Amino acid sequence: MAARRGAVPGGRPAGRPGGRPGAHAPARTRVVWSPALLGYDFGVRHPMTPLRLDLTFRLAEQLGVLALPGVEVVGAEPADDALVATAHTPDYIAAVRLAGTQGVPDEARGLGTEDDPVFPGMHDAAARLVTGSVESALAVWRGQARHAVNLAGGMHHAMPDRASGFCVYNDAVAAIRAVLAEGATRVAYLDLDAHHGDGVERAFWDDPRVLTVSVHESGTTLFPGTGHPADIGGPQAQGSVVNVALPAGTSDAGWLRAVQSVALPVVRAFSPQLLVSQHGCDAHANDPLTNLAVSVDGLRAAALEVHDLAHDVAGGRWLALGGGGYAIVQVVPRIWTHLLAIAAHAPIDVATPVPQAWREHVEGTLGPPAPEVMGDGEAAGSPAPWSAGYDPGSPLDRSLLATRKHVFDWHGLDALYD
Ligand SMILES: [Zn+2]
Ligand SMILES: [Zn+2]
Repeated sequence: MAARRGAVPGGRPAGRPGGRPGAHAPARTRVVWSPALLGYDFGVRHPMTPLRLDLTFRLAEQLGVLALPGVEVVGAEPADDALVATAHTPDYIAAVRLAGTQGVPDEARGLGTEDDPVFPGMHDAAARLVTGSVESALAVWRGQARHAVNLAGGMHHAMPDRASGFCVYNDAVAAIRAVLAEGATRVAYLDLDAHHGDGVERAFWDDPRVLTVSVHESGTTLFPGTGHPADIGGPQAQGSVVNVALPAGTSDAGWLRAVQSVALPVVRAFSPQLLVSQHGCDAHANDPLTNLAVSVDGLRAAALEVHDLAHDVAGGRWLALGGGGYAIVQVVPRIWTHLLAIAAHAPIDVATPVPQAWREHVEGTLGPPAPEVMGDGEAAGSPAPWSAGYDPGSPLDRSLLATRKHVFDWHGLDALYD
């Protein structure tokens, strides 16, 4: 079945990736990590501190995830200008370099703002994330790795000519463009960050080769204010943009219902050759910047579903990216360690104790309390399927229905019953 889905109408595979996906693919999981990635640092008062990556990889290491069979940890050098220019204008790249070398702000390009302060080495730091995601996407596409994870990536707000929302260079856009350049004809991007994936959507707005799906808190209550159900892509690519705008306060059951009743069906219907997912974990209830109320258990459940989806529809070709997430002790290290473990085919049970050494490190450097187990104690059960009925009185279901009505037709799906 997976092989058939790799074919285009007429039966000839287009842009066939190298290697032999599916059962014969190498079981390697490529994990992008080196301490150099901690250089993406807007300063001590900024919410997106690199500590969240440091704490994540310490936790993953202590749980043995990085030493699992097939896991390969690789660093990333800064991308050259030609590679960054697959996602950004030359003028903007020059402005980022000037900001990073001479401290010159450029507020018209989003540099030196409250969200995106200028810092030394800004260009190189941001360009490393681009390399990490592009090389990972190509490794998966060429069959050199089955899955890849770049937790430092997922900078989904960056626009062609400006920084936005803590994002300088859009590694996700560059990664997708890299596989398109190698002949891919169908790439799906699934964004689970609490914020709308506006930069990636913009890049592929009118490109039928790329499906972008964003599940986020409604723009009426959260930055960047976009991502409405009626936004479905340009004239050449109607239905290739899918936006699920959730009411503030949505918790596990509603969030997972959104993933299962909108995001997963459209990705399945699109039958991508590669699945790129963004796992910003700021939908968590403890996140200081958003108003959703998802648990670690819920985020983990979605990551498991995304992994299964990649095997079901994309021959296992899966690139998972990080993204937002600002509860840097209580949330980010646990959910991203879960994601790494899932990508390494060794999921960690939510009842697993958090290693004492990690807790002592956290409490010794940042102060207590560190979480004690790998889950939040929420039973992230499967919500009832949409086909079992929906509640027109529920703001959540009304929102999901709006998205379904706008895009399901384009994918041969029934908005009311599928
Ligand atoms: Zn976010
Ligand atoms: Zn797998």
